[in-house]
Parts: sequence; C-alpha cells; structure tokens
Amino acid sequence: MKENILIKNTKALSGGQIVEAEIAVQDGAILSMTGAPEGFVADKVIDGEGKLCIPGLVNAHTHVYMSLFRNYADDVAFTEWLFDRVLPKEDAMSVEDAYWGTLLGCIEMIKSGTTTFCDMYPIAGMAAEASRKAGMRAVVSRGLTGSEGGERRIAEALGEWEKWKHDPMVTHMLAPHAIYTCDTPFLERVMQVSDETGMLINTHLSESEKEIADCYAQHGCSPVEYLAKLGLFDRKTLAAHCVHLSEVDIMLLAEKGVSVAHNPKSNLKLANGIAPVKQMLDAGVNVCLGTDGAGSNNTLNMFSEMNFACLLPKGVNKQGDVVSAKSVLQMATLNGAKALSLEKVGDLQVGWRADIAILDLHRPWLYPMHDMANALCYSANGTEVETVLIDGEIVMEQGKMTLIDEEEVYANVARIARDW
Ligand SMILES: [Zn+2]
Repeated sequence: MKENILIKNTKALSGGQIVEAEIAVQDGAILSMTGAPEGFVADKVIDGEGKLCIPGLVNAHTHVYMSLFRNYADDVAFTEWLFDRVLPKEDAMSVEDAYWGTLLGCIEMIKSGTTTFCDMYPIAGMAAEASRKAGMRAVVSRGLTGSEGGERRIAEALGEWEKWKHDPMVTHMLAPHAIYTCDTPFLERVMQVSDETGMLINTHLSESEKEIADCYAQHGCSPVEYLAKLGLFDRKTLAAHCVHLSEVDIMLLAEKGVSVAHNPKSNLKLANGIAPVKQMLDAGVNVCLGTDGAGSNNTLNMFSEMNFACLLPKGVNKQGDVVSAKSVLQMATLNGAKALSLEKVGDLQVGWRADIAILDLHRPWLYPMHDMANALCYSANGTEVETVLIDGEIVMEQGKMTLIDEEEVYANVARIARDW
C-alpha cells in the first residue's frame, strides 16, 4: 500500500495554467487537487507554501548509461567522438558498469525534476533494473543494429520485454537504431516483431546531413520518405532528432502520427544543426523533448533543454513570437507522455498518476514572479527541485534520494571512470 500524501497550501501547473492547489495523493494517483476529500487520512503532509508543483518532466530520448561518458570526449569532430572515443569504451563496458552509469543518470534526472525517461541502451539486463531501483517511470529499449548479431539483439529485446511486461512502471519499445545501421530486411524483421508484440518503435532519424545524402544515394529519397514507404510508420513511432527535414518530410511525420523527440543541445554539440521545431509544431507534429545521452550534452537536465528549445527557434526564424515557453513545457511533459503512450501521465489532474516535482521558488533568479510558467523555461535551472514523487512514491525529499545510496553510486562511477 502506498502512503496517502497531502501537499498543502501550494501552487500547481495544471492544464498549462498556474492554479492554487492542495494535492491529495492516494494509491499512486492524484485523488484531489483542491484539498483532502472527506475520509482521506494523510500519512504524510508536505507544506507547499512558497513552492510550485509541476508534472514530472518526461525525457523522451536519452541513453542514460552514457552518464559514464560525461565530459569524456568534448570539442572533437563527430566521427572522432563516436568511432574513436565512445564506441571502443562502450564495447568494453560491462553490464555492471552500465548499471551504475544508469543509476547516476537517474539521480541526475530526479534531482532536476524528471520522473519519466525513454532510454535506448546497448546492454541488456540493467536499464529497467536501475530505473526500478531509483523508483522512476521508464520506457526502455535495447538498441538494435542489423549487422552481425541482429537476431541475438532482437532476442535480448524480447527477453527484456517478457521479463518486465507485467510491471506498470517499465514499458519496452523496439529500437532499430537508425537507417544507416539497419538495412531494409532487418527493418522489416523489426516491423514483424513489433506487430507480434505490440511494442512501439523508437529510432534515430534524419540526424545529420550525411544521413540524408547517403539515403538519397542509396534509396533515392529522404530518410523520412524511405521509412514511410517501408511502412514503418504504420506502427506507432517515436523518432529522435529529425534535424534535417523537407516540407514533404514534415507533412509525412504529421500525417503518419510520428512523434519527434527534439534534442536541441545534443544536435548543437555534435554539430548536426537545429531541428525545424516551429515548422513541425505548425504542421501538427507531436514534438517532445529529450536530452540524449550525457556524452553529447553533457547533462540530463530537462530545464536546460527547455531553455534551448525556447531560444533556438527564435534565433533561427528571426521571430520572437514562435515556440512559446508554454508550448515547450507541454513538449517536456504531456507531449512526451503521449509519444510514449503513457496514460494519465504528463499533467497534474484528478485521476492522473502522481508524478510530481515540487520546486522551491525562493531563488533570486525567480524574483519577481511575473509569469511562473515562463520562469520555468527562461529562468529556472532545475536546482529548485526539492522533493519528487513518482507514482505517488517520494523518491527524493528535501534534495535527498530516498531509495538510492547516492554516495555508493558516485563511488562506483568514479571507480569505473578511473580505469578509462
Ligand atoms: Zn540517441
């Protein structure tokens, strides 16, 4: 039985509006937004005076184990970053290494208000374990590449799915890594597995100019057109990046209901460019927000990502009134939950899951408070997050993790990195 929790005398971001609230939580869900109903006995009361409750943020694209790569390969060309620095270390990484890296990322995400993440990982047997240990809501996927070992990787993905399919806090997707690592027969095989299991598709798409040029050379069309023709988008798909898109591509993404995980900082750091977010939103594409891995960011902090997501479209389009803070907040919450098919996640409403980040607003950079929602994107930095509930469970209280021994995680991560 989960605790009954009452967050008293507070403010909440609900339905995109800031409202006065008193939030009662029972059995992991929000029972009331306006005070304890009759008969409700709180096991725990949190004083919400001077605080703001926001829906837990949804990091819609990341590789959490890559926390181990934070600041390991900066200021280098993409090919050096990937082939000379990241891949050799990744190949040598043990399941245990990846587990500690993932736990580190979970701590960072919780401390900056993220309650759900969508992960793509290269080693089975640790991502779901780490997310459960931290108490997070996770949508995880074993990265699939079609070269030698493709079937083994699919078998691993299926094994993980079988193992976790009855846990409501863990969902599995199928993750064909990208069109340049999966050939057409392999993508068709993944589509078949998706149809057999009902697993959604998680992939990287149209990330670099090279990917576009190679796709035209090989298939005579753009990556989006290629996957649309192949029929991949007939399954519910989440595509990360989508930096280089034609007008036809954007139309196809909207038409096929493909969700796009925008990763502004990773796209900048890996020198890939800036995704046409304004144009995608105008066309009706469900755009959500992700951090990508800490090797290409170098944080998993969604506040930083929201800030970039607000600023970049204004600079690129030379227009100040595009991609508002309010729409970016929705990208970081509701749109992410929608992309991941998570029901009643991504907003604070009666009957919805109690994924709540409580922020202390008593910070110099948050005074005066002209517009609280805008302040979250333009002024906040995530250090305001004080207490976090996920599915009604307090996973961090007053800055302290309740389920994880933080020092043990830091010590293990430092030990792993010492050998590099
Ligand atoms: Zn990625």
